[in-house]
Amino acid sequence: MSIPSNLNRIQDQIAEACARAHRDPATVALMAVSKTHPAEELQEAYAAGQRLFGENRVQEWQAKRAELSSLFAGPDAASVHLIGPLQNNKTAKAAEIFDSIDSLDSLKTASRLNTAAAALNKTLELYIEVKLSHEETKLGLSPAELPALLAELPALSNLRAVGLMTVPPLDTDPRPYFQHLRQVRDASLAACPTLAGLSMGMSNDFAVAIEEGSTLVRVGTAIFGSRTHP
Ligand SMILES: *Cc1c(COP(=O)(O)O)cnc(C)c1O
Repeated sequence: MSIPSNLNRIQDQIAEACARAHRDPATVALMAVSKTHPAEELQEAYAAGQRLFGENRVQEWQAKRAELSSLFAGPDAASVHLIGPLQNNKTAKAAEIFDSIDSLDSLKTASRLNTAAAALNKTLELYIEVKLSHEETKLGLSPAELPALLAELPALSNLRAVGLMTVPPLDTDPRPYFQHLRQVRDASLAACPTLAGLSMGMSNDFAVAIEEGSTLVRVGTAIFGSRTHP
């Protein structure tokens, strides 16, 4: 299947999931997760109308972006979110080359991003990554740690937290995790009224995520095919 036909099919599936959930499809954004795929494939998706991309490594995106500069400037510019872990020594570069950091999980990183965004005279959007399972390998902060972070965010005036993100454990029913993230989001809105977004759902479970309130689905394999490199 080609990238344009994959995008069409996924948009149809998003519309069907929205119909089941009595939701307006305009409330669900499709992020094309292009990590490990070459710049030409992003170009192909862009030509088919895709304007939102997700990458998980700062250095990889820095290299691809250099080949795609025309797509990320001007009135019809695409935007790119970082969806992978962010190391301390990469925060300044990340603030420069991404429109949003969707994997924020500490106040220390938030503070560094704020300093970098201020130096660039830019407001950086954020999703806070929440870990809802007890897997050692999972990134994100626990729901119990969230209020302390939210309390500090208003002081970081070049950041704007717009939602929560989660990745459920593999090989389990994702629905309870999506429901839990939504509850955590609802409980956080009083402290942070801008935090309405829910980034949840990937190639295998985005329809379930939409039924449970997702506003941003992150789809890689179903658009670009399987990843040969990790
Ligand atoms: C790779 C990745 C995705 C996309 O996963 P697919 O199963 O290929 O759709 C989504 N979210 C995150 C955080 C990822 O790292």
